[in-house]
Amino acid sequence: MTDPTAPLRQISCADDYDPNSMPVAKAREVISRFLSPVTTHERAHVRAALGRVLAEDVISPLDVPAHDNSAMDGYAVRFADLKADAKVTLKVAGTSFAGVPYAGAVKAGECVRIMTGGVVPQGADTIVMQEHVEAQGDKVTLGGGHRLGQHLRRAGEDLKTGQSALKRGQFLRPAEIGLIASLGIPEITVYRRLRVAFFSTGDELRSIGTVLAEGQIYDSNRYTIYGMLERLGCEAIDMGVVRDDPKLLEQAFAEAAATADVVITSGGVSVGEADFVKDLLNKMGEVVFWKIAMKPGRPLAYGKIGHAHFFGLPGNPVSVMVTFYQFVRDALLQLSGRDPVPALPSFKVPCASALKKAPGRTEFQRGVLTQDASGNWSVCVTGEQGSGILRSMSEANCFIILPEAQGNVTAGSLVEVQVMEGAI
Ligand code: AMP
Ligand code: MG
Repeated sequence: MTDPTAPLRQISCADDYDPNSMPVAKAREVISRFLSPVTTHERAHVRAALGRVLAEDVISPLDVPAHDNSAMDGYAVRFADLKADAKVTLKVAGTSFAGVPYAGAVKAGECVRIMTGGVVPQGADTIVMQEHVEAQGDKVTLGGGHRLGQHLRRAGEDLKTGQSALKRGQFLRPAEIGLIASLGIPEITVYRRLRVAFFSTGDELRSIGTVLAEGQIYDSNRYTIYGMLERLGCEAIDMGVVRDDPKLLEQAFAEAAATADVVITSGGVSVGEADFVKDLLNKMGEVVFWKIAMKPGRPLAYGKIGHAHFFGLPGNPVSVMVTFYQFVRDALLQLSGRDPVPALPSFKVPCASALKKAPGRTEFQRGVLTQDASGNWSVCVTGEQGSGILRSMSEANCFIILPEAQGNVTAGSLVEVQVMEGAI
């Protein structure tokens, strides 16, 4: 195996890949070798920890549930009092409601009215559902066919004292926040948020709020990147638009790398523009420029500038989002301390229409997964697939992933889709 601390260019050469046709999986793999997660952490109140990553194992300080309790509304009985094939009549000695247990012990010939969550009183070992009981005054009659211990939730059956309830690296969703609260824990340790600085490059770009002159366009990449970073729980540091000027770019790269864990740029990595950025970054850090065998999103730069990781994404708005989903997302999650990094869910469905595809590159077409009246899912493309058509991302709810070797797709054949919703 290659030494993961070896410089990027050295590893890349040893792997004998072609930087002009880098397969998607290979690029992912090379990037993942360079990622070491944040280690600094902080204490957070359980609610404030929503969307953060756990930096410690959460050990249960108590048994869950804390007591043997009833899973049904009914009667707590002594199994030895019941008869397999005859009715018996028991005296109702009291009640055990959730939060208000029965104080005494159930004696022979007795039972206790119990509600769901009520503590099973001493002496009782079985719950009989109220639907299986005839009640008259303080007496109940019940038949046979019961099982020892039925409808009873045992103390510690979910979690025992000292057992690990959640592992370090766990992303904290509403379920985990609730679980932590159920253990009575008010505060936990989470990793600090990953700091990600980003800027757009291009002389033609203007920010919203300004009037466009001929040939100028509004910068949208800073908005999609901001949105994706926020969704992933990163601290997004917006550094604005930087003109295609080596001096200004050098300043921006230096400032970004000094303040952030990760630097993301868009534009300036395509042929023609890449040359001076390449020279600049080779001077400032260790960066490789790849032409990924994918569509859209062909040019991609990856490396380190000082201690910061660097992703140089293409300029086209769709390419930015596709490369972010396919490379940057996993890297940011790994750097944030998520363990394991959840793979984007993907599966196969029939494609409603024929698709044009030339072998040689992995394509990430934008798709809409829909369900027909009989409940069957299929996918269709969002229409024009140009890498500048951001509307295609807005209309899509999935990527249709067509592998490198794949040619044209005929209508009705199975294609792999990767769901976008929840992925970022
Ligand atoms: P580049 O990779 O810099 O040559 O950019 C490729 C295409 O994407 C050009 O048409 C750019 O105008 C466009 N582009 C680059 N950056 C942005 C941005 N931040 N917002 C919108 N379009 C962009
Ligand atoms: Mg440009």
